[in-house]
Amino acid sequence: MKHYYVTTHANENGEHTIHEDECSIFPEIDTLEDLGYFYGYNDAYRDAKRKHKKWRVVACSECCSDGIK
Ligand SMILES: [Zn+2]
Repeated sequence: MKHYYVTTHANENGEHTIHEDECSIFPEIDTLEDLGYFYGYNDAYRDAKRKHKKWRVVACSECCSDGIK
């Protein structure tokens, strides 16, 4: 399983980005919420949406390129 995080502050497009912990552009840890361990991006996405129903959640293009855009 992989360890996933989501940014707590939206970017300029109003989106919160999900990263794996081995991402090459991993953000500062204090700007992230720990989502936990999942088998893939889609499971991490569903968990982030369940916790934050109003957030627009997107995949990091570096580490989650197989995810939902
Ligand atoms: Zn990433």
